[in-house]
Amino acid sequence: MVDNGGMSSPDPLRVAVIGSGPAGIYTADALTRQNREDVAVDVVDRLPTPYGLVRYGVAPDHLKIKGVARSLRRVLEDPRVRFVGGVEFGRHVTRDDLARAYHAVVYATGASVDRRLGIPGEDLPGSVAATDFVNWYCGHPDAEVARFVLDAEEVAVVGAGNVALDVVRVLAKSADELRATDIPQHVLDVLAASRVRRIHLLARRGPLEARFTAPELRDLGELANADVVVRPDQVDVDPAGEELLHAARAARTNLRILAEWARRPPAGRPRRVDLRFWTRPTAVLGADRVTGLRVEGTRIGDGGRLVGTGVEEVLDTGMVLRSIGYAGVPLAGVPFDEATRTVPHADGRVLDAAGAVVPGDYVAGWIKRGATGVIGTNKSDAAATVRALLDDAPALRAARPAPEPADRVLAASGATVTDYADWLAIDAAEAEQASRLERGERVKLPGWAELRAAIGR
Ligand SMILES: Cc1cc2nc3c(=O)[nH]c(=O)nc-3n(C[C@H](O)[C@H](O)[C@H](O)COP(=O)(O)OP(=O)(O)OC[C@H]3O[C@@H](n4cnc5c(N)ncnc54)[C@H](O)[C@@H]3O)c2cc1C
Repeated sequence: MVDNGGMSSPDPLRVAVIGSGPAGIYTADALTRQNREDVAVDVVDRLPTPYGLVRYGVAPDHLKIKGVARSLRRVLEDPRVRFVGGVEFGRHVTRDDLARAYHAVVYATGASVDRRLGIPGEDLPGSVAATDFVNWYCGHPDAEVARFVLDAEEVAVVGAGNVALDVVRVLAKSADELRATDIPQHVLDVLAASRVRRIHLLARRGPLEARFTAPELRDLGELANADVVVRPDQVDVDPAGEELLHAARAARTNLRILAEWARRPPAGRPRRVDLRFWTRPTAVLGADRVTGLRVEGTRIGDGGRLVGTGVEEVLDTGMVLRSIGYAGVPLAGVPFDEATRTVPHADGRVLDAAGAVVPGDYVAGWIKRGATGVIGTNKSDAAATVRALLDDAPALRAARPAPEPADRVLAASGATVTDYADWLAIDAAEAEQASRLERGERVKLPGWAELRAAIGR
């Protein structure tokens, strides 16, 4: 409670946070770690499970990073914070509904759709977005359980970021190496039967432009089940040249790691990962499913633009995974910038098309700044939004002096609302499943039906 000099305390400032990923939970954290305002925060998610991409994005073998959930959990257990699951903004509740019950709304819905390559054949069966593959191996309830079979011997992964590396690792590791992770059992069974032998990781620019972070790149080099092959000529950058001189430190570290790999002879491991820079896909080939990928060499042309060299090659891949970025989706009634696929804002305050502040609406995380940065980046980002919100608190209270009870609005939403206790029931069922299968700490329940069964609805 705020010390207000003995005067009767005002009702708490009611805030709805839409999205329980890192950005949403760090928003709740910042709201409860200040003493300017007493607060009551509802963290709303369409899923009955919190933590967003920490649960349904971060690679299952990155157990340490997944451990962030333990600190996020403490925020949800604060008595001033409630987890409200099963409620989708735009489907069950609208902006107007929320405006009746809360002084402020913070949108933290992330960026959950893939960007497309825009080449012929992209929609053939076997050509998929990394988002789909990640959702599947992470057991996201929207992912069809039988979505993938992994019957191709060669796979191409297109993209030069950490998500592409995650996807390659999951394809390259043996099922035994993934046993102790939270991968759903049916996914582990498919991975155990995988026929994949060779994975091409394609980057359209050079090693200095790749967006890998060094720890993720090093993980790839430590694969026990796959040789990682880098062509020496692709990492042969002039040590005294302009390119290296202007490269960021992280890029130079990546180059050093890749150059070391280029000198290693393959050790004859069961799988092989070919890292190919300066290569772009031009067409996914096949009549009724993917049978190959046409690629073309690239180089920097006049004016620094990337151009094709005209030298083409066909890779014998039966599956193509594109991982070239994530984009946000518009939220009904909330301003949206189609070019950046984010909600326009100033210091976290949502702006309308004319650039004016939309009172009471705020934004945090990937839907605010695009799909960049690590989990921790969302913490300072959320804190900045909360500072703006608290500065506005007197005006927010004046604009909505008597909000309706949130429970009344949620009850009228038609959603099957779930709470933190329901999440704990799912959590316990997943731990129980892990112990029954003699696998690590948790084995995910895939699919809506399993999640509902765990909470008894
Ligand atoms: C595949 C992948 C792997 C990653 N691995 C790492 C890693 O190893 N280390 C690292 O530091 N970072 C990693 N990241 C980045 C990290 O996950 C993001 O920085 C972070 O999750 C962004 O947080 P967010 O809260 O903005 O979005 P999200 O985590 O996506 O959370 C958004 C939440 O909003 C909910 N939601 C969406 N729409 C609605 C709606 N209409 N109504 C109600 N709820 C809604 C979603 O269900 C979700 O729970 C990874 C990202 C991806 C995609």
